[in-house]
Amino acid sequence: MFGSRLRVLVTGGAGFIGSHLCERLLRKGHEVLCLDNYFTGTRSNIAALIGDPMFEAVRHDITFPYYAEVDRIFNMACPASPIHYQFDPVQTTKTTVHGVINMLGLAKRTRARILQASTSEVYGDPVEHPQREEYWGNVNPIGPRACYDEGKRCAETLFFDYHRQHGIDIKVARIFNTYGPRMHPADGRVVSNFIVQALRGDPITIYGDGRQTRSFCYVDDLVDGLIRLMDTPTGVTGPLNLGNPGEFSMLELAEAVLRLTQSKSHLIFQPLPTDDPKQRQPNLDRTRATLEGWQPVTPLEEGLKKTIAYFRLALGIDPIGNSM
Ligand code: NAD
Ligand code: UDP
Ligand code: UDP
Repeated sequence: MFGSRLRVLVTGGAGFIGSHLCERLLRKGHEVLCLDNYFTGTRSNIAALIGDPMFEAVRHDITFPYYAEVDRIFNMACPASPIHYQFDPVQTTKTTVHGVINMLGLAKRTRARILQASTSEVYGDPVEHPQREEYWGNVNPIGPRACYDEGKRCAETLFFDYHRQHGIDIKVARIFNTYGPRMHPADGRVVSNFIVQALRGDPITIYGDGRQTRSFCYVDDLVDGLIRLMDTPTGVTGPLNLGNPGEFSMLELAEAVLRLTQSKSHLIFQPLPTDDPKQRQPNLDRTRATLEGWQPVTPLEEGLKKTIAYFRLALGIDPIGNSM
């Protein structure tokens, strides 16, 4: 009726990745319904979208049922930073299990296609490197990260069972560490922590010896991958790794942030959190074969520059380090 315009539900739409996704979907001409309980997301992330007649934001916690008529669901709701998902671990599991059951129930009733924001954390502290989708992972089921890791693993199980049992059109994206503008300054993840510390002249907190690695993907590249996965034909379910394969140690990341901010902050070493994975890098063979033409195009340095520019404005710090 409306050509290619679709009614798209984005849960967690006021969060870091979700807000970029809402913006991109609106630009593509879709109608966007954003659900968020504002646990880690903010109204300021979506402030620029309010007033757009194609955008609607509703305060809602997905652990409770929700009824709407939609064509597509991006299930992004879930705190993603260890300090936030461990703040109320039972709520984290409820979000990844009860919340996911509700969104799958909604997809079942409306026959909407549904995409799950899964995570590289399903691989735990991996003994296979880089990680392929076939790898089953190495997760401690009773540790402090389990509410998130096991919750997201159970969410994948539910997705595939609703697919097999009820014929739901599912897509599962395993997202690797993603960064960019709109990360919350107090988010607690490494990229935002290092940038905020460097800009404020505070010590850079390296956990452990800083030799553990992560692969960092710029948010625009990730959102592009999520939309392309959603647009694959029915039957293409994933899971697909989405991330940037460039792998860096936390010491290398700290050095890059210090150089790009021209900060004189010094490094301090703090204990490594329990069950902190030693290394992480996506194998993108399956993703490249499935999402023809997709690949992350933003090098770390370029993405960091854009993120630093965002935090300078957000924190009110001018280019020579003075508060504005
Ligand atoms: P974020 O914390 O900025 O966003 C999560 C959003 O979900 C927030 O707006 C929050 O308020 C909302 N939310 C949380 N629980 C909810 C609930 N029960 N009901 C409704 N809303 C709820 O994190 P992000 O980095 O934007 O992550 C988005 C999604 O991507 C998450 O599912 C996360 O697990 C996944 N992911 C992110 C990364 C990453 O590096 N950023 C990596 C892997 C997976
Ligand atoms: N649900 C929802 N919105 C809908 C349809 C269902 O929130 O539009 C919830 C519903 O409350 C239920 C869950 O999704 O608890 C799972 O739905 P399903 O149909 O799979 O299970 P059932 O209702 O048969 O228990
Ligand atoms: N980390 C760090 N300093 C910080 C925050 C995190 O050295 O201020 C480390 C953390 O121990 C981990 C890596 O950076 O090894 C990535 O942490 P993050 O919380 O960003 O993501 P995740 O561990 O979930 O991949």
